Amino acid sequence: MSTYVAPLKDMRFVMNELAGLAEVAKLPGFEDATPDTVDAILDEAAKFACGVLDPLNRSGDQEGSKWHDGKVTTPKGFRDAYKQFTEAGWPALALDPEWGGQGLPRLVATAVDEMWCSANMSFSLCPMLTQGALHALELRGSAALQKQFLPKMASGEWTGTMNLTEPQAGSDLALLKTRAVREGDHYRISGQKIFITFGEHDYTGNIVHLVLARTPDAPEGVRGISLFVVPKFLLNPDGSLGARNGAICASIEHKLGIHASPTAVMVFENAVGFLVGEENKGLATMFIMMNAARFAVGLEGVAIAERAFQRALAYARERLQGRDLTGGGGAVPIIRHPDVRRMLMLMKSQTEAMRSLAYVVAAATDSAQRHPDKATRQRMLAFVDLMIPVVKGWSTETGIDVASLGIQVHGGMGFIEETGAAQHLRDARITTIYEGTTGIQANDLVGRKIAREGGATVKAWLEHLSEFDAELAKSKHADIARVRGALANAAKALAEAVEYLLATFGKDVKAASAGAVPFLELMGIVAGGWQLARSALIAEKRLAEGKGDKAFYKAKISTARFFADQLLSQAQGLATAVTSGGAGALALDEEQFFAA
Ligand SMILES: Cc1cc2nc3c(=O)[nH]c(=O)nc-3n(C[C@H](O)[C@H](O)[C@H](O)COP(=O)(O)OP(=O)(O)OC[C@H]3O[C@@H](n4cnc5c(N)ncnc54)[C@H](O)[C@@H]3O)c2cc1C
Repeated sequence: MSTYVAPLKDMRFVMNELAGLAEVAKLPGFEDATPDTVDAILDEAAKFACGVLDPLNRSGDQEGSKWHDGKVTTPKGFRDAYKQFTEAGWPALALDPEWGGQGLPRLVATAVDEMWCSANMSFSLCPMLTQGALHALELRGSAALQKQFLPKMASGEWTGTMNLTEPQAGSDLALLKTRAVREGDHYRISGQKIFITFGEHDYTGNIVHLVLARTPDAPEGVRGISLFVVPKFLLNPDGSLGARNGAICASIEHKLGIHASPTAVMVFENAVGFLVGEENKGLATMFIMMNAARFAVGLEGVAIAERAFQRALAYARERLQGRDLTGGGGAVPIIRHPDVRRMLMLMKSQTEAMRSLAYVVAAATDSAQRHPDKATRQRMLAFVDLMIPVVKGWSTETGIDVASLGIQVHGGMGFIEETGAAQHLRDARITTIYEGTTGIQANDLVGRKIAREGGATVKAWLEHLSEFDAELAKSKHADIARVRGALANAAKALAEAVEYLLATFGKDVKAASAGAVPFLELMGIVAGGWQLARSALIAEKRLAEGKGDKAFYKAKISTARFFADQLLSQAQGLATAVTSGGAGALALDEEQFFAA
């Protein structure tokens, strides 16, 4: 059975050549991210991911987390792995050193996070949510809350959660009912939350829940939501653990995948909570967490795709079946069959495209926060905002496709749990649902990120693509010429879809929304194709210089060409689905669905 190998060569290529690590390291505060330091971090993370987390992936899936009488026991080895994780200083790579973080760029943390998730997605979820909670407290928590909670969360001594969902309030948080009643300097929180990842576990002495709730006189809808810190154990004045708070785990869910990650039903019974930020401004703060978490979930799509690809590739080399189409002789490894190669290329090219886009967005996040020039910060922030739903929606949908292809490469053995390919698909399946379903990401993309600003950011990006076309035109390579043609056609199709959405959104919002998911996929394909085209140009340059790993660079060009032929070529079809979305998707009314 294959085990995970961190794809450090590709990660370094993407970080250095596409995401511009050298430029990121020049941003104020990131001076420590020297090439040697980053190399050492990646090597150490790879060792930890492969040596500690990967060996627990299968057993964690089989054993699952268990609930008994309000307590949750994680699978054998997880608690110890978490201890090692904190001792090695991994929980807060990108957090400000003021709070005990290591102040590294988001770009570096992204590559490291990808490794945790590829090696063991269930394990990776707890630190991921803690990072989101840390971020929200860092930006909006009062000085007192920051002092009480941030250092212990940064060290991993305590973990964080995100409590949004209630039985009647999933995608629609306007419906949430959990109540918060003021009592002196704190609030009393009562209500039920469901599906709370790592809402209870046995890793740490305390769990810091970030909870959305309503005060009694709050306005209806999302304008009446406030955010509270509700620790499992209250703190004594000296910061030590005090009384048990009324935040109880009533049960955990039995689910399709991520079995080692406990998904808790949380009951808050008059629990003491502390306001984060202002009353009724909770959703805005939660969005800080959500944006980081949406990006992180998009990265899960990349990570699972990478893992599924590695496993399929190993199997394709071992499994003997069928004759070589041109050679005769005995049974050959299935990797010799053109269709298996096509599947492997689909897996490889989409994984690399998704990784490239995610890391470029991570680097843009660093610039949006740290660049000394205000206009650059704003431009980068607009680009990140535009791309977050794409990274989340496209990478997770594609991650599932890639994991499913991984099963196909295995044939019947893929459907059998023993090979591990099935676990990847089961684990990946949640990624298009939590942190906002793909439908919700697509609505965000079309409504908030495009229509609301008259398409300014997406048009600036399309303009950048046409400038990039001039660079591609200088290449002498036949494959790159092909990539150029496909990217130009796809960008044209995207521009048409953008114009349609801008013209339609205000007049017929249902028609625009009906095409929102195809539009998100179209954005993903074009953005991914753009990054692979950049990779191909860089590879051509390095090959001409005679520098580096020739086979790696040649593969980059072939991969870009494959993506152009097989995926960028689908852009026109997706654009048609956008521009005719309303007509098709809304043709049958509710009654007709049942009558037909
Ligand atoms: C394993 C797991 C872990 C989770 N972890 C957490 C966690 O840690 N914290 C937390 O708060 N929540 C968590 N969740 C909850 C998760 O975020 C929600 O399940 C998700 O937001 C979807 O909500 P829902 O399940 O109520 O689906 P619904 O909102 O009922 O959606 C059902 C369908 O309707 C579609 N839909 C709904 N509204 C719209 C709309 N306006 N436009 C278009 N389509 C729409 C959706 O896209 C979806 O296809 C977790 C869930 C699971 C299963």
